[in-house]
This record gives sequence, structure tokens and C-alpha cells, in this order.
Amino acid sequence: MSEHSCDVLILGGGMVGLSVAHQLLERDITTDITILDKEPELGLHSSGRNSGVLHAGLYYKPGSLKAKVCVEGARRLRSWVEERGLPLNPCGKVIVPPRAELDAQLDVLAERGRENGAEVELWDANQLREKIPEARTASGRALWSPNTAVVKPLSVVRRLRQDLADQGVKMYQSQHDFKARPTQQQLILSDGSALSYGYLFNCTGLQADRVARSFGMGNQYNLLPFKGLYWQLKDNCPFQPRTNLYPVPDLSVPFLGVHFTPSADETPVVSIGPTATLAFGRENYRGLKAIEPGMAAANIAVLARQYLTNRGGFRRYVHEQAVLALPPLLVRAAQELIPAVKPEHIELSQKVGIRSQLFNRTTERLEDDFLCLNGPCSTHVLNAISPAFTASFALADLIVDQALPQLNL
Ligand SMILES: Cc1cc2nc3c(=O)[nH]c(=O)nc-3n(C[C@H](O)[C@H](O)[C@H](O)COP(=O)(O)OP(=O)(O)OC[C@H]3O[C@@H](n4cnc5c(N)ncnc54)[C@H](O)[C@@H]3O)c2cc1C
Repeated sequence: MSEHSCDVLILGGGMVGLSVAHQLLERDITTDITILDKEPELGLHSSGRNSGVLHAGLYYKPGSLKAKVCVEGARRLRSWVEERGLPLNPCGKVIVPPRAELDAQLDVLAERGRENGAEVELWDANQLREKIPEARTASGRALWSPNTAVVKPLSVVRRLRQDLADQGVKMYQSQHDFKARPTQQQLILSDGSALSYGYLFNCTGLQADRVARSFGMGNQYNLLPFKGLYWQLKDNCPFQPRTNLYPVPDLSVPFLGVHFTPSADETPVVSIGPTATLAFGRENYRGLKAIEPGMAAANIAVLARQYLTNRGGFRRYVHEQAVLALPPLLVRAAQELIPAVKPEHIELSQKVGIRSQLFNRTTERLEDDFLCLNGPCSTHVLNAISPAFTASFALADLIVDQALPQLNL
């Protein structure tokens, strides 16, 4: 049996795993880093399948991990992208209340944004129309976030991978399976070889709860995967918003509602979405291939219970968001933001993503914040949902800080 060893082993080469490696190098902690990913290419899951929005930090409860890392993470990732000349659309974002009774939420978001260190401005309907002539606000007010930007997520992942490889980080890809031996600080790979580590970071996104359990961690969490489908405006649609346009979200569930996002392409494509409906498997992007019947049945039962007890305002989520995978209802939601949208203006996009949303069986609630569980010589990053892409550099710093007492390098 062959044996390899490294100071730091990172499981998962999505944006979070890559950013942990980036921070270890930036801070001169070690260069002996191995990243192990189950796929032949990086970016095949959430980090390559998201909206690419660098969020400005408006939504998150002050004091939460999301609030701590979003503003700083966005600033750092944005300058990293700019320094490398990667595509970036500095288009900002407008948030509007689709119904008048949601108007007060604009003040809540403005307050949260300011507390989190984000720049925000309350606008009237004229200012909104100057930015997006077709947009509508139900209350006559809107919230403007000048620092929201859009990148091309795959180009970021690929460039970061290349930068790390150039600095000597080893990448083992197509590593589908391993057996964890936490007490020996070792993994046994599918070819029988042993990989020993000084410290391990589990950044496996949609599989992170399963991987954590194989290390005896996070037994109370289950993944509740929510699929995000996107539509897009056709080329010949008479209006093409050049700024992000979002509805005021329901802050009791971790989804932002269907929104318009111009891409970071030279001629931006405007996507509408993503939806948030239960997926029948962790990686069930399309068709029936990756369905996990046992998991789907258990998760339907969880959602049915959440609905009946209306925990965390779940009934409103089901009525307003779970149904948006149906095109007529999606068009209706889009019309709340831009009344001129018609079914013939939109087409289904190829893009589809699945959120690594966790359900806590002890509290019977969806987890809202990132979770970093520290075990012996290992950290397990769970619930790395939005804005983990935006926040990745600052989140990685925090993950590394928490691990430092055990890093012993
Ligand atoms: C539809 C959608 C839209 C979103 N929009 C935004 C947005 O606009 N802005 C934003 O900031 N965030 C957004 N997010 C969230 C963001 O995409 C994620 O928070 C982020 O990409 C998480 O990165 P990650 O590295 O944890 O996971 P991933 O990108 O999923 O990476 C995990 C990696 O682990 C690997 N892996 C899995 N299991 C194993 C294993 N057993 N062994 C080895 N490797 C393994 C996978 O192959 C994968 O490469 C969105 C998410 C979705 C789904």
C-alpha cells in the first residue's frame, strides 16, 4: 500500500476549499497542502452553478457569521477578480417591495446593511425608474446597494485553482471515495493508498454533512437540498435590465426570492431565478439519474411537518417560493418586479444549482448561518449556502483562525 502525507488536507475544491488553501498560503502557514476532490473538474457543483452575485451584506443578522464575513469577503474577492482582469459587472442592486405591506422591510434591510458595514440608500420611485425604467415598487420606495457586483463564478474557480497549483498546492481529482480514520489522521483512498494529514478541512458542500458524520461530527444535521432553476430573458425581449433587481425577501427563510441578474458577459444575459424547490437528491440537477429515494422520502416528511407546524413561517415559503418552478407562477413573480414581462420573453436557462441547506433535527429548523464544527485535527464546514461564494476569502480566514490552535505547524 502506498502512502502519502501532507500538513493540510482539504476535502472539496469548491470556492470554500480553494479559499482555505489560498488563506493558508497568504498567511504563510504552510505550503504543504493537498486538495482532494471527487470530480474530474472543479466547479461542477455550487461554486460553478450560482448566480455569481457578490453580495453587499444587507440581509444577514448582525452578529451572525454571514454578517461578519460577507462585506469583507466581497471586497477582497472583488479586488482579486479585478487584479486578474476576470469579468466583473459592477452593476449594483435594487431591492423593491412587490407588495405595499413589505415596505417596512426596506428599513430593516437598510439598518442591517449599515450595521454590517454595507453602503445602502433608500430611493423613491423616480430614482428607481432612472436606473431600471420598467421596474415597479409597490410602495414608492426601493433600496439601492451600489457595491453589489456580478462575476462569472466558473472563471473565478478555475483561476483560483490555477493560482494555487502554480504555488505548489497538490490537487487529487476524480477521488470518488475514501474511508476516514480520524484517530490515525489518515484517509484510505479507493485504490487502497493511505493519505496522512496534520489537519483536515472538510469543505465538500452538498456532501459535507455526510463526510462530517464519517468523522463522528454533526450527527444532528441532515441536508435538505433545494434546487434552483433559472430562466433568462430572450435576446429579443424589448427590455434588458442592466442592474440586479431583487424583491424584498422573507427573512425567516434562507432564500432571496426570484430576481433579475445581468451576467458579467460583455453583452450581459439577464437571468431570472433561481427557484427554491426541494431536490430529490443532493446532485439531482436534471432527470432521474441522481435521485436518492430514501433521502427524498425523508425530506418530504420533514417539509410536510414544517408546513403543518408552520415553523419558521414555512407555510409562506411553500405558497410563495416552492411553487415557482411552474413557469406561469414564475412569470407572475417576475411581473411583480417588472410588470411588462410576458411568457414569450423568457426561456429556460441551462444553469441549475442545488443549495447545501441543512436541517437541524434537534431544533427542527433550517439552519440559517454557516456552521464550522471543529473536531480533533479537523474542521467541518457545513451549511455553506449563499453568500459563501461572495464571502469565501473572509470565511476561509475565520475557518483558519478557529483551526490555528490545533494546526501545530
Ligand atoms: C442556485 C444557487 C445560487 C447561488 N447564488 C449565489 C450568489 O449569487 N452569490 C453567492 O455568494 N453565493 C451564491 N450561492 C451559494 C454559493 O454557490 C455556495 O455558497 C458556494 O459555492 C459553496 O462553495 P463550497 O466550496 O462549499 O461548495 P461546492 O462548490 O459545492 O464545492 C464542494 C466540492 O466538494 C467536492 N466533493 C463533494 N464530496 C466530496 C468527497 N466526498 N470527496 C472529495 N470531494 C468532494 C465537490 O466535487 C465540489 O467540488 C448560490 C448557490 C446556489 C445553489
